[in-house]
Amino acid sequence: MQHNWTRHFRIIIGFVFACAVAGWWLGSVLIGLCTGLALYLAWTLVQTRRLHQWLADPDASDEAPGSVGLWGDLFDSLHRQHQKHLRSRDLLQTRINRVQESTNAMRDGVIMTNADGAMEWWNWSAEYLLGFRRETDRGQPIHNLIRSPSFKRYFDARDYREPLDIRSPAKPHIHLQIQISLFGDDDRLIVAKDITRLFQLEQMRRDFVSNVSHEMRTPLTVISGYLETLTDNADDAPPRWQKALNTMAQQADRMEALITDLILLAKLETGEQQVNDNVTNVRTLIEQTCSDARALSGEAEHQIETEIGPRHFVFGDEGQLRSAFSNIIFNAVKYTPAGGTIRIRWYTDKEGAHLAVKDSGIGIDMVHIPRLTERFYRADPSRHQQTGGTGLGLAIVKHVLLNHDGNLEINSNPGEGSEFICHLPRARIAEAPIETAQGIFD
Ligand code: ADP
Repeated sequence: MQHNWTRHFRIIIGFVFACAVAGWWLGSVLIGLCTGLALYLAWTLVQTRRLHQWLADPDASDEAPGSVGLWGDLFDSLHRQHQKHLRSRDLLQTRINRVQESTNAMRDGVIMTNADGAMEWWNWSAEYLLGFRRETDRGQPIHNLIRSPSFKRYFDARDYREPLDIRSPAKPHIHLQIQISLFGDDDRLIVAKDITRLFQLEQMRRDFVSNVSHEMRTPLTVISGYLETLTDNADDAPPRWQKALNTMAQQADRMEALITDLILLAKLETGEQQVNDNVTNVRTLIEQTCSDARALSGEAEHQIETEIGPRHFVFGDEGQLRSAFSNIIFNAVKYTPAGGTIRIRWYTDKEGAHLAVKDSGIGIDMVHIPRLTERFYRADPSRHQQTGGTGLGLAIVKHVLLNHDGNLEINSNPGEGSEFICHLPRARIAEAPIETAQGIFD
């Protein structure tokens, strides 16, 4: 580059010298220099115009305008820059095309939106699964196209740890699992997975369990009935027979409890058991359950203490809540040795309403806690013969709380007792019904 500049400088000096000599020869050095300057200016103007024309549309020709000297170097250097830019643009375009081709080949729908949900890009599967249209939907808010309140809540909540299951807005027979990730400037990458097959299998499993439970109920009722009659008249029977009849009656009762729980769980899972959002008096519910728990404790004489806060009305299904609360309270009795303490506390705070059941029982090892709400999961399988539980209690609790937008917290250490806390959201707290409020003044 330094070499070029020296060369250009020499050419300019040579040109000025030649103009001066020509002027001197014609009689005036000044006129010679002025003529040279005018010629140089004219040439510069012509080159500037050519440069302007080329810059206006550099793609019109593959070659840069040809020139000499400084202008020639300038054109060559600009041409090289332009070629380099074209090459990197082509490379980038190829990469973008490949990314788009691969995302288009995906069976999952992929959608990109900005922070407000305006649709920026989506692949072909998203068009098929969600019914988006390329021509009209670009820039549309996604909530106009997926009109599901649960999707709106999920999108706005910004808590995307768990996926969301919805029906496709365009094809209701398709079940989708939606997973959102945040990227860039609070933008969203939404992936919609077709889980119809999985959903149908899950449905089949639920139907099967529910049908089997219903089918077993009638024969079992007959067997229990006969067993009851036989045990009532077993006084004259040999002791061996009496023992056998009692054991059979006990096992029949267990089976009945199991079937009742299975049917309830199937209803809770399928949503067949709708939440009847009535105002429920939790105080009455807890007090009744505690008196049943005292009866269950019997000679074990557990100390059952209750503390019920002033806001003890909730919107919820009384039957379902009774099931959930009694399962937790009865478990505390079953898994606490005789004479132990069980503390039941109902309280409300800014988070919502909570039922905490704390016992001084055997406790649970940490490894079991995440799996306790699975059906038939037992922390200590050897113990369930003694306690006589169905193994479905905590699964029922979990589903009841899910139906009430709540969740279950379990804190425990082996040998130090356990605490089960049912959390219900603030929106579930209700004011006392009018007739109850009047009752206070009666
Ligand atoms: P089960 O009918 O066996 O009690 P649940 O679903 O109610 O079934 O409980 C699942 C398991 O959780 C129990 O088998 C037991 O191991 C454990 N568990 C539940 N509650 C308690 C508690 N209060 N203390 C200790 N272990 C408990």
